[in-house]
Amino acid sequence: MGVMATIALAHALAASARGFRVIPLTRAKLPAVRSPHHRDPESPPCRGACGRLGHGIHDASADPETVRALFAAAPWATAYGIACGCAPHHLIGVDLDVRPNGPTAPQNPRGPGDVTGRNGTDGPAALARLAREHGFTVPRTVTVLTPGGGRHLWLSGPPGLTVANSAGRLAPGIDIRGSGGYLVGPGSAAAHGSYRLAPGSPVWTPAPVPPALLRLLRPPSPARLRASSGRRPSERPPAALTALVRFVRESREGQRNDRLFWAACRAYETGAGAQLAPDLVQAAVDIGLTCREARATVASAARSAARHLQPPAVWPPPLDAREGRRGGLPGTAQGGAIPW
Ligand SMILES: [Zn+2]
Repeated sequence: MGVMATIALAHALAASARGFRVIPLTRAKLPAVRSPHHRDPESPPCRGACGRLGHGIHDASADPETVRALFAAAPWATAYGIACGCAPHHLIGVDLDVRPNGPTAPQNPRGPGDVTGRNGTDGPAALARLAREHGFTVPRTVTVLTPGGGRHLWLSGPPGLTVANSAGRLAPGIDIRGSGGYLVGPGSAAAHGSYRLAPGSPVWTPAPVPPALLRLLRPPSPARLRASSGRRPSERPPAALTALVRFVRESREGQRNDRLFWAACRAYETGAGAQLAPDLVQAAVDIGLTCREARATVASAARSAARHLQPPAVWPPPLDAREGRRGGLPGTAQGGAIPW
């Protein structure tokens, strides 16, 4: 295990000692342990029932032995994620983006649904404005500075309530990490820099979410309910994922396949590919692609995302290691989805 992985593991163990459930992440901030099902894209979604590691956020654990095993399975990890929405903290992450004004600011860097961009973004100012409008105080709480100049506020939620992930729904520049999401932990190194506690930040002790803010986080919009028809309410995908399905539905002829591919890539990169694939295929069929075309495009996106999840410095392993590997090399000729 390299120095970066050792540092990330040490921080992850410190987090787990406070009850936070963690997983190792790559430099791209994606789950680092490869899926044991990557050679079998048609297998039903598995969230770890098979007993092996490699199910993204479903691997998250506060048990030190499991955390060590996760990092041992992903020695290329340089960062770690902290699962949101889990006992005992029921963590809610408030991700405040800061991007400058001007022509150098990226335009729609996150694709559809991203309302930030050309005019600059100031997440902290947007949150302060929301607090004024809705009569709450942003509490002093764990604050992590991100390499991009933004910050993550950690809040603890009440047990028994599910807070959905969202991007820009509250206001431009404010993303919410809720159930099924994760926050990059302080002490992590990513491609663009490191994550660290803000000066004077409390350590590992998130403040309770203000009730007025919680109310803003909880409204289930009719559009989201409609978008997930046919699914039990408890299985409703977060808003960011239904936005991907909508993005496909809104495609014009000539761009349908490209947009389906793009949306499926984003879904697989966030670990929700297997969950969202049926909805994406259905959306594509509804706008005129054949089922066969749609499935092929989604499978291709899964393979593409799988390649991105392989840290280039480590994958592929040297030839002799490949030959000694039982069951062959992941992600080669047949490729495959990462159905975690
Ligand atoms: Zn499994």
